[in-house]
Amino acid sequence: MTNDGANLYDLPQPQLARALGTIVSPPFRVKQIEEWMYVHGVDSFDAMTNIPKELRAALAEHYRLDFPQVVERTTPSADGSQKYLFTLRDGNRIEAVYMPMGERTSICLSSQAGCAVGCTFCVTGFFGAGRNLTPGEMLGQFFTTQHEHNVPMEMMNVVFMGMGEPLLNFENLVATLDVLYRNIAPKRITVSTSGIIPGIDELAKLPRRPNLAVSVNAPDRRRREEIMPITKKYPLEELIASLKRYPSEKGREITIEYVLLAGYNDSHLDAVALAKLIHGLRVKVNAIPFNEDPNLPPWMKRPKEGSIDRFVDTLVRNGVAVTVRRSKGREIAAACGQLRGQDKRRTKVPG
Ligand code: SF4
Repeated sequence: MTNDGANLYDLPQPQLARALGTIVSPPFRVKQIEEWMYVHGVDSFDAMTNIPKELRAALAEHYRLDFPQVVERTTPSADGSQKYLFTLRDGNRIEAVYMPMGERTSICLSSQAGCAVGCTFCVTGFFGAGRNLTPGEMLGQFFTTQHEHNVPMEMMNVVFMGMGEPLLNFENLVATLDVLYRNIAPKRITVSTSGIIPGIDELAKLPRRPNLAVSVNAPDRRRREEIMPITKKYPLEELIASLKRYPSEKGREITIEYVLLAGYNDSHLDAVALAKLIHGLRVKVNAIPFNEDPNLPPWMKRPKEGSIDRFVDTLVRNGVAVTVRRSKGREIAAACGQLRGQDKRRTKVPG
């Protein structure tokens, strides 16, 4: 049965317990329902097989258990990555990416249906702002892909690196993290930000923190302002200062993401400048060769392999730990917003 009641996945845990308490008794039933939702990720009351039928019917009369619906799955790429396009109840479309990585599997989630931050190298930014996703819409991406691939929770990593700026949807992000922590340790969850300093400071105050990744992409303020206009509001120097005060935890470091654009930010001198910028921070750099896309400025090109190697070598010689993200699922348009970009070109969905 469907109705217009609240989606229970959208309620933070204390509110969920209160909402259920008005219908459900005895209290241990509330715990059972929470377990069906938060551990098993079911999307129907009928799946709650240890809950009496009448109670399931009463719940379905008042509430919903909604996940976004999959409208498209790409064919798995050579590395096994698969991208999902979901539609939301209001017709907005969002993406998630499933990425098997040996003994681990990562799922990349979207946090907003669009993005107002406007990074010029990003397809989501190109299509502009969208609304915040609810906890249920974020959890739905996670459970849908996890169920489809039948991945054991102990193998899962989650990254908030899909569409949107998660720290501009802070409250819903925290409610989502609280559910994910039931199954996945905070050190296996990463939140990636364009550098929203108040959000970083709020994240720092949480008793349980995910890993932090910060998209830096240029070694100086001028170029960062060009490709990341948010730098005008949150200057690069202040961003670095916020990372210095971010609490460091044993065995964990901040990831500095750096999209490499041929001839723009990928020279030997750029690597030296980046090493200087982040000197003294406990960080590693994730160099991301740019994924070309017809929606983005034609001058933005992926560097040649030799340039990527030289950039990485220079960082290493300057004492910086570096990994290179060799485009998981490049052929399935795995960069942020690219699949929805293709979908918009095909279907001309506005907004
Ligand atoms: S890179 Fe992230 S923050 Fe920047 S426009 Fe794209 S989705 Fe928004």
